[in-house]
Amino acid sequence: MLAYFTFHGGLNDFLPRRQRHTTIAHPFDWKASIKDMLESLGPPHPEVLALVVNGAAVTFEYIVQPDDRIEVYDSAAQVPAGRLLPLIPPYPGRPRFILDTHLGRLAAYLRMMGFDTLYRNDYDDEELARVSDVEQRILLTRDIGLLKRSRVTWGYFVRHTTSLLSLQEIVQRYALAPLAAPFAFCMKCNGTLSSVARADIAHRLKPETLATFDTFHRCQSCGQIYWKGSHYEKMAQMIRQVLEPPAQG
Ligand SMILES: [Zn+2]
Repeated sequence: MLAYFTFHGGLNDFLPRRQRHTTIAHPFDWKASIKDMLESLGPPHPEVLALVVNGAAVTFEYIVQPDDRIEVYDSAAQVPAGRLLPLIPPYPGRPRFILDTHLGRLAAYLRMMGFDTLYRNDYDDEELARVSDVEQRILLTRDIGLLKRSRVTWGYFVRHTTSLLSLQEIVQRYALAPLAAPFAFCMKCNGTLSSVARADIAHRLKPETLATFDTFHRCQSCGQIYWKGSHYEKMAQMIRQVLEPPAQG
């Protein structure tokens, strides 16, 4: 028995080079769900937005039949008119994230931009999948196998390996730019920041900092103090870079 798979867009990133941007004749001996079969070829289900089999939209539970022609999409724009049946419910509200152990720098950047982002360097795969499910967080990872766990609904494989490019990638994918809000979450621990009176923290700051800045924020979890000095400038510069990448060439 054969089924014919065509993967669109970024889903090709998960295929061996010779199988990219072409139709794959996939032999199978027993019937399986389309979700299991497409994951066995490479792409993880959270990156699959829509499936069209022999011209009709199907869900992940569809059982693949011999000679099926299967189109797998990762963005609505590519799906033929009238065939879009989104497989993943729209993410509810402002994006919140959980990141795997390789993405510590990206976690700090997302917090700095005002996004609730869980990160620990000792989360194991089971816990990452569980927390993303229970707390409805988008799981960002560089582990494809983790994204294939059935508990994961919203997730994404981070392609870029340098932190600034990966931040840019995530800002674009989740349209974060208009949602950026500084001084919401602590870069170090994801605690909530609240404004604090200068008198309450004067003993912890250098005199020149106290003399130069009026507004201070303190993390309610770890006590870290933030002001519109170096942290803010660093963030503002990074956001400008992310929103306006330098012209190519
Ligand atoms: Zn903190």
